[in-house]
Amino acid sequence: MKKFHIFTIFPQFFDCFKDVGIVSRAIKRGIVDINVVNIRDFATDKHRTVDDVVYGGGPGMLLKPEPIFNAYETLFPDKKPYTLITEPWGRRFDQQFAQELSQKEEILIICGRYEGVDERVKTLVDEEVSIGDFILSGGEVAAQVILDATIRLIPGVVGDTDSLRVDTFSDGLLGYPNYTRPSSFRGMEVPKVLTSGNHNLIQLWRRWKQIQKTMEKRPDLLKKAQLSDTDRKILEYIERGLDFEDFVKNYKILKR
Ligand code: SAH
Repeated sequence: MKKFHIFTIFPQFFDCFKDVGIVSRAIKRGIVDINVVNIRDFATDKHRTVDDVVYGGGPGMLLKPEPIFNAYETLFPDKKPYTLITEPWGRRFDQQFAQELSQKEEILIICGRYEGVDERVKTLVDEEVSIGDFILSGGEVAAQVILDATIRLIPGVVGDTDSLRVDTFSDGLLGYPNYTRPSSFRGMEVPKVLTSGNHNLIQLWRRWKQIQKTMEKRPDLLKKAQLSDTDRKILEYIERGLDFEDFVKNYKILKR
């Protein structure tokens, strides 16, 4: 059982998140547990204050350190979880980051709000994490992005592990295009190769499409991707402006 803890002042954000789809199923199956902690419950004064003004002046409020430290020390007296805090300048979240998190046993995500959190909270934190170069109103949406991408990588969560294997980014390339029934829709036909029943040919076509799409949309990824000999051949054909049919005609693996 993997444990996730969320420190937030808006726990209700996570009600629906925990209640639908893959995440909900993972919880019900006992594969993951998401413990949403309202840090207001750990405030020290009678008004249960969680925020205060910024020292030195400036706009907005900051999350106070005491409720966060109280919650942390109460929940984790011995073993410390791997602790993240959402920050727009943090390490950019991506599939590799999700992969790393999916290996951790216990994770805490502290969600910032207002102008952010008191800097001293950072002494509890292993990594600052950002989901992109934009400003959100709080870390809750970011935490959900992180949770969702991480949880689906935990073994047993996504039923068909093949679907993880073919996902975009799983091998550094974008996914191939997919079609479902009907095979002809408003004059648009499903590519013939997909209904050919020739499994090798289908695999090759999908690889061709992955490489073509990555070249067009994310050439930066292609530079980093681990390419096989076949992949490099495909790339060469695409770069020479040739099409899949040309490739198939000349590619000897198919003749076997
Ligand atoms: N004043 C801050 C922004 C605060 S936004 C600044 O100028 O940098 C409020 C909170 O939302 C942040 O503390 C952080 O926890 C969260 N947040 C905002 N943008 C985010 C992003 N791109 N990724 C992750 N968390 C973000």
